[in-house]
Amino acid sequence: MLIEALAGTASAAGFMAWAVRGRSSRVFGPSVWHGARDRRALALTFDDGPSESTPALLKLLDGLDIRATFFVSGAAVERLPEIARSIAAAGHEIGSHGYSHARLYLRGPAFVTGELERAQEAIGRITGVTPKFYRPAYGCRWFGLEAAQRRCGLTAVMWTVMGRDWKWPAGRVAARLVRGASNGGILCLHDGRELAPRPDIRETVEAVRIAVSELRRRGYRFEPVGELLRAATAP
Ligand SMILES: [Zn+2]
Repeated sequence: MLIEALAGTASAAGFMAWAVRGRSSRVFGPSVWHGARDRRALALTFDDGPSESTPALLKLLDGLDIRATFFVSGAAVERLPEIARSIAAAGHEIGSHGYSHARLYLRGPAFVTGELERAQEAIGRITGVTPKFYRPAYGCRWFGLEAAQRRCGLTAVMWTVMGRDWKWPAGRVAARLVRGASNGGILCLHDGRELAPRPDIRETVEAVRIAVSELRRRGYRFEPVGELLRAATAP
């Protein structure tokens, strides 16, 4: 009896862990984590920006002729409006990473709604773009998110490969991206380090340079999340 109760508790805890963090979970709102499996396409996505280091990444992507998706934080957009506008002006897709990079876990619905609405307002006012996609901070979803997403018109976007670029050297990050790549894959990297000012993202930039070269050799093309998903839902 005790063992059964413990087992029940363990599986309930396992379910909640998946519901909150699992990339395939839609428990707390509409969410996707990959595009069509029959197209040799990938989306590069960057979280935690804009930062003072974002322009170096924009320069690389421009040279590679790649359009990516940037999940920006509302607070960072307000701090660095010119850099935020330059992301959109370069043709990249702007998504939301929430306002303050707060973890939604255990927060009340008003807080959850505020994170999404304040971000939409700031991003829209400064870049002129109203995001359709939302990358939850720390990949963490919670109660109240579904209603907030619906109000803001946001679909959550998780990932097929997490680059771990905030802690690993470029070569190791690039190898992880290449090994994990698959048709319709969404690769998660960072042009900021949470919301720290003047982050060092040189390993991220170098990882992109290495990985893109190898992934193109393997036949992949790169497109923003919106295009990757449109292709997935097209007849
Ligand atoms: Zn983040």
